[in-house]
Amino acid sequence: LIGGVAYVGYEIYQDRNPEPQVKPDPSKKTLVVLGTGWGSVSLLKRLDTENYNVVVISPRNYFLFTPLLPSCTTGTIEHRSIMEPIRTILRSKRGHVKYYEAEASSIDPDRKVVRVFDNSEVRGETIETEIPYDMLVIGVGAENATFGIPGVRENSCFLKEIGDAQLIRKKIMDCVETAAFKDQSPEEIDRLLHMVVVGGGPTGVEFAGELQDFFEEDIKKLIPDISDRFRVTLIEALPNVLPSFSKQLIEYTESTFKEEKIDIRTKTMVKKVTDKAVEAEAVSPDGKKEKVSFPYGLLVWATGNAVRPVVRDLMGKIPAQKDSRRGLAVNEYLVVQGARDIWAIGDCAVAGYAPTAQVAGQEGNFLARLFNNMAKTEALEERIRDLSGSLNLKPGNVAEISREIEETERQLRRIKDIKPFHYSHQGSLAYIGSEKAVADVSWFNGNFASGGSLTFLFWRSAYLSMCFSTRNRLLVINDWLKSKLFGRDVSR
Ligand code: NAD
Repeated sequence: LIGGVAYVGYEIYQDRNPEPQVKPDPSKKTLVVLGTGWGSVSLLKRLDTENYNVVVISPRNYFLFTPLLPSCTTGTIEHRSIMEPIRTILRSKRGHVKYYEAEASSIDPDRKVVRVFDNSEVRGETIETEIPYDMLVIGVGAENATFGIPGVRENSCFLKEIGDAQLIRKKIMDCVETAAFKDQSPEEIDRLLHMVVVGGGPTGVEFAGELQDFFEEDIKKLIPDISDRFRVTLIEALPNVLPSFSKQLIEYTESTFKEEKIDIRTKTMVKKVTDKAVEAEAVSPDGKKEKVSFPYGLLVWATGNAVRPVVRDLMGKIPAQKDSRRGLAVNEYLVVQGARDIWAIGDCAVAGYAPTAQVAGQEGNFLARLFNNMAKTEALEERIRDLSGSLNLKPGNVAEISREIEETERQLRRIKDIKPFHYSHQGSLAYIGSEKAVADVSWFNGNFASGGSLTFLFWRSAYLSMCFSTRNRLLVINDWLKSKLFGRDVSR
């Protein structure tokens, strides 16, 4: 306990007492980092920033703990509890570290500049500028895939950013309050209270589970007259949900959803969305295709990732990227193929792994180690050059200088040996509603699959330990307790 309190105290002290900011050092390289997500923040956390002039650029001035984002859509967790300001993260870093709130629009790999724009509301106009780099890390993530399906962008909510979760929270209550309004037709009540989720990946499944909890635990008690009309439908094109989980957990999730009365429609591919209905093509058990329509009040679209325009633009400038479809192809050191001094991490990079927070985090850690090593290597090589130069100037000290050269060379050999990036999969976790979770965990070279209430406790403790800061952890615990004791806040 004393250790824990001392640690919390130390973290708070560090947070409240920033390092003095220093001017850029012209003898150091400028390292530009794009993005403040899992990849970039993991890199910044471990990077020895004294070795570089560091510039961080992102339109989002905070890190978002995305695994708990579905819980923000229903108010189980308040959104600020899973946000950590980038300024707080950077203030304990030594050396020259700058942050600009701006979005990168293009990268010129020949001139080594990033074009950025800032459309600040207070200024009322967009400002564009260029930021030069010696080394560039692209960690801008991905955008929502819509596959060009008509009506999706105009009518759906996504679930990627904090604003998306806030919008969903408002819309759920809008649907509920409108349905509860005087003299609504039964068809309209049914439509408004039909919540449709498209995409049976972890995002869609977790959101559907949270939504059903919200209804069962809170809405139903507060507005009993609509309680038998609320429905959640999860639509998935493949034959089952959670395709990346083991068969046993897929079956467990599907049977739990059945108990929770969440309707799963697999083998159903959405083709078109209007402002009031989702049009899909379903494959029936006898293999026939039939058209189905789902009138909805709220539609959440969670069908995975697509490449961001800034990344697509860069891919178009590099011939070696012409066959890559899902993002920037990188080599085993995460260097963008066909480019010099550019690395890519996280969901915008194609390194042969799934686009998850876990992969992005490990890639960021790897790059931090690589860059720390590169700086050390350069410093040692310079030391060897200086020592070799002084051999002729100080003939009396030849033996001593030679010994020092040998020792420096030994150090250099040791640190130069950095192995390529290797992803170590710790497992996958997903919340499935009614205080149950599923976990596919890899431990001691074995795989363990579990689902249920104990797994839910494991899910909570694992996510709690992964939260960015002690402040986040305390806020999340507080939110969990608050929603358990007093119910979720249903105000819009
Ligand atoms: P996903 O890519 O995992 O799943 C999207 C699903 O949408 C697919 O199963 C696909 O078949 C379906 N789909 C696509 N188009 C469709 C259509 N027109 N009609 C019906 N269904 C359609 O997407 P995600 O859940 O957003 O996850 C993105 C990535 O992030 C994945 O790699 C995932 O593993 C990871 N992630 C992991 C967790 C976790 O482990 N808890 C949570 C969130 C995200």
